[in-house]
Amino acid sequence: MTGTVNSTASSTAEGFERAYGYAPEGVWAAPGRVNLIGEYTDVNEGHVLPIALPQCTRAAASARTDGVLRLRSREAAGAGTAELSLAALAPGRVEGWAAYPAGVAWALREAGLPVGGADVYVESDVPAGAGLSSSAALEIATALALTELYGAACDRPALARLAQRAENAFVGVPCGPMDQTASACCTAGHALHLDTRDLALRHVPFDLAAHGLRLLVVDTRVRHALADGAYAARRAGCEAGARALGVRALRDVPYGELDAALARLADAGVRRLVRHVVSEGERVRRVVALLAAGEPRAAGPLLTAGHASLRDDFAVSCPELDLAVAVANEAGALGARMTGAGFGGSALALVEETAAEAVGGAVTAAFAAAGHRSPRVFAAVAGGGARRVCRGGE
Ligand code: ADP
Ligand code: MG
Repeated sequence: MTGTVNSTASSTAEGFERAYGYAPEGVWAAPGRVNLIGEYTDVNEGHVLPIALPQCTRAAASARTDGVLRLRSREAAGAGTAELSLAALAPGRVEGWAAYPAGVAWALREAGLPVGGADVYVESDVPAGAGLSSSAALEIATALALTELYGAACDRPALARLAQRAENAFVGVPCGPMDQTASACCTAGHALHLDTRDLALRHVPFDLAAHGLRLLVVDTRVRHALADGAYAARRAGCEAGARALGVRALRDVPYGELDAALARLADAGVRRLVRHVVSEGERVRRVVALLAAGEPRAAGPLLTAGHASLRDDFAVSCPELDLAVAVANEAGALGARMTGAGFGGSALALVEETAAEAVGGAVTAAFAAAGHRSPRVFAAVAGGGARRVCRGGE
């Protein structure tokens, strides 16, 4: 199994010093996330259940007094250093990766927080575009760095909302609140049960090692081109379903009334979307109850049922994800599913610790046999949310 954690607070501070010629005031880290269950429920005001990954994005930063924001990333080294005037920031004005951190500075200032210029250097161990939310990790690391550099008071849920605003309004990606909230608010050893309507959150025990279990993440390293259009189409279909059923959002359809609701829908495509969203909400509820009861093993079949629903009803899977899930289950996983928006990205598998190597090996071998790119397989432990990892001079 390959790990993907390879940078440290000191390597990020050194990178800052190479880029800007002086030592940073501090280094802040924010994790990527993987969603255990609750896919496409967030765009229907429902519940999600992510954990923070050990893999983080680190931002080394120092305040500047001239209202200039300089941005540089190890992962986007070819783009050089972006140099932006804070006063001139506006949606649509910044291209490429720098739009994420610049959007954060813009959103914080729009919210009236006393945040000024800064030099920022970024390194990340979260694979980008793998459905593990490197974008939110980048946003939250930047947001925490800027608010702490300037002593701006902003609690974690508010920080997450502003980072989401940056991604929605400044970068132009219509994501829900899950990714930023997970990166900002998760606690180690717990999954985050988030109600995406009222943003109420609850930390649910998720210490798999204590149960002799592991969570494997399979990054397929593919992203099929239809992802963006399909996301918008599924969202629109869900909204049509809610309108037809006379509810504000599909999370308002009780699971016990699903069959009656489906019978009222004329459009077969919309019916399938509704069936996924409403049944997925019920799967989140059951997985949360099992984790709270200390019975994580029993969550396995719910993960696999969630995959079938995303594959057959919501139609957002792809051959690589289906293969990862099928082979993991054949090789002895307790359950497996795609995670994230689909059409590539990552799958996860809940496995006995003793079966982890065999399941990971079987998936890797099956990808080779099918002629797919070799996947990146790693065991995910529920890590903590964003934090300062180094002060200047340390
Ligand atoms: P995901 O969030 O699932 O990884 P997204 O498409 O939402 O995928 O975000 C990926 C984008 O975020 C990248 O294309 C890049 O623009 C930006 N990004 C994320 N991490 C970094 C990084 N360390 N350096 C530069 N850009 C990054
Ligand atoms: Mg993202």
